[in-house]
Amino acid sequence: MTPFRDTYWNIPHWAEILLYVVQGLGVAILIGKLYLRTRLWLKGQGKLSFDQPGKRIGRVLRFAVAQVRIAREQYSGIMHLSVFFAFVMLFIGTALATVDYDIGVLLFDVKLLQGDFYLIYELVLDFFTVAGIVGLSLALLRRATFRPDRLTYSFGFAVMLWLLLIEVLSGLLLESFRLAALQPPWQTWSFAGYAVSRGLLALGIGPRSLETAHLATWIFHSSLTAFIYAVFLDLPLKHIIYSPLNIFFSSFREAGALAPLDLEDETIETFGVGQITDLTPLQLLNGDACTECGRCQAACPAYMAGTPLNPKQIILDIQTGLNRYTPQLRSGQVGDVPLTREIISPEALWACTTCQACVFECPVLIGHVDSIVDMRRYLVLMEGDVPELLATAMTQAERAGDPWGNPRGSRMDWAEGLNVPLMSEKKKADVLYWVGCAGAYDPESQKTARAMIKIFEAAGIDYAVLGDEERCNCEWARRAGNEYLYQEATHSNIAVFDRYEFKTIVTHCPHCFNTFKNEYPQFGSSYDVEHHSTYIARLLREGYLKPAKRLERAITFHDSCYLGRYNSLYDDPRGALKAIEGVRLIEMSRSRETGLCCGGGGAQVWFETHQEPPVNEIRLEEAMATGAGTVAAACPFCTIMLSSAAQSKGVTEEVAVRDIALIVAEALD
Ligand code: SF4
Ligand code: SF4
Repeated sequence: MTPFRDTYWNIPHWAEILLYVVQGLGVAILIGKLYLRTRLWLKGQGKLSFDQPGKRIGRVLRFAVAQVRIAREQYSGIMHLSVFFAFVMLFIGTALATVDYDIGVLLFDVKLLQGDFYLIYELVLDFFTVAGIVGLSLALLRRATFRPDRLTYSFGFAVMLWLLLIEVLSGLLLESFRLAALQPPWQTWSFAGYAVSRGLLALGIGPRSLETAHLATWIFHSSLTAFIYAVFLDLPLKHIIYSPLNIFFSSFREAGALAPLDLEDETIETFGVGQITDLTPLQLLNGDACTECGRCQAACPAYMAGTPLNPKQIILDIQTGLNRYTPQLRSGQVGDVPLTREIISPEALWACTTCQACVFECPVLIGHVDSIVDMRRYLVLMEGDVPELLATAMTQAERAGDPWGNPRGSRMDWAEGLNVPLMSEKKKADVLYWVGCAGAYDPESQKTARAMIKIFEAAGIDYAVLGDEERCNCEWARRAGNEYLYQEATHSNIAVFDRYEFKTIVTHCPHCFNTFKNEYPQFGSSYDVEHHSTYIARLLREGYLKPAKRLERAITFHDSCYLGRYNSLYDDPRGALKAIEGVRLIEMSRSRETGLCCGGGGAQVWFETHQEPPVNEIRLEEAMATGAGTVAAACPFCTIMLSSAAQSKGVTEEVAVRDIALIVAEALD
């Protein structure tokens, strides 16, 4: 006898019709709710992007289907992938059975689910049924018992997980009743249903009772499916639809480039995000797409430091705003839907270091930093609400050209005693060395700048600096929301660059590097820009630099966020250190992509948020845990923050914080 699927066995015709009516209703409710929600997202500024569809679909396959970011963690990876693929396969299996019967058999007299194909079909579906039960049990176990701080176990999550578990279990029971009643010769291929059916028979349940139980379970299972469709978007289940949409529409902009504001457009009344409708449709979708996995929260240095900032909450607050103001948004009262200050506190916004750890961790590609900076823009540009010390730094950068407010004529003091060539005299050089404000005025970073001169000289490089013509590029002010100051500094610096001829800009500051490389093209000026770690590593590799001295030193390297996560530069600074004989490089527990911020980015270096314990001290402890006596950095902000942590912890004797240029220059002696 050829094995076959006896679809709708024991199901009366009226029940079959009821199935279509009830499930059709469930799907109609789901589509209606999705339509209404989409209209809310579209109340935002601008449009959703559909460009490069192939690339967007590729990202959906990578992040939503293969779930590469979720799989980074073993437990949640196994759990989530099991549940995801179980439901995908069970959905396909059910759809196939329905199509096979209602279209194949009834309309064309062709049956697909028979023979060997049917046996494989049963085997695969039973495998995924078990996978679904295991995955959902793991999820419930973790949320309800050993839940990490980053996860919540809300009423919605509990309802979702139990509904799904009951759905899979009732499907299994349905199959088991059928197998117990019919006992077809091929029943062992449905191994899970077969095992349960043996148990039912062992209980002595008779054929009529099996049929009755089968019909009752079928009606329950079908109705539950319809109910799940109807409440799909009201439960965390919604991420199954919203997350792939978010991944599809997420931006292709470089990680290190903020979206510029059009300050020339006089029709724009609001800069930044104050009202919920000031967000873009994608930012509104972000709020709905969040899976509440809390990975961003666990990676956030500001959250670790006990500040009011929790990136997960920022994103969920967007969803709260959409829910709270749904009636106003639907009726067009879009001027009365405040988000910043009303729902999201300025204290939380000011605590962000823009380190992008949240963005890197988010499995559904949510862009927390863009939204945070947009809300800061509103506070700064529309309300003039800036933390006091930060406001001082901005005023000084505007007036004096550097955030410390030093006299312009003192910008070359760091080079006293060195014969550093100026662009204004040479007009032309292979390398324009951008010293930056820290290099010019911060005592520790001045040593880095002097070390760079030693390196240029040792390698015989044709270089020059801008001297007093250099002014702060104010990338920190941009991240703090002051786009006016940033754009003004940008136009001024581009005008200076345009005066001279050079091939490459080299800078030892990752923030300057990032803005020249990724943001200046927004203003029509592209340059060949290299961070000093890349430049030095190449000079060493190509033999222009030959370290003569062996340094017997254990060094741990701290990744700057603006070098690593922003620009994927991890190997060059390490390569430069490894080129020195005797250097032993030890990695910290969090390094490279998962490296912890020093706490200085996003303008944090210019003002104080209450932190307990401070981020820089957390990071220094991680560095000291390696046992290395030297912490190497490749960023003036990191050097400042980690040196200050060493001082406040009173460990300057035990650990030295040094820029990589200083270490390489020392080895040249
Ligand atoms: S960018 Fe860094 S500090 Fe800001 S929210 Fe994300 S993880 Fe936290
Ligand atoms: S924003 Fe992303 S990482 Fe954070 S909780 Fe939501 S889905 Fe998870």
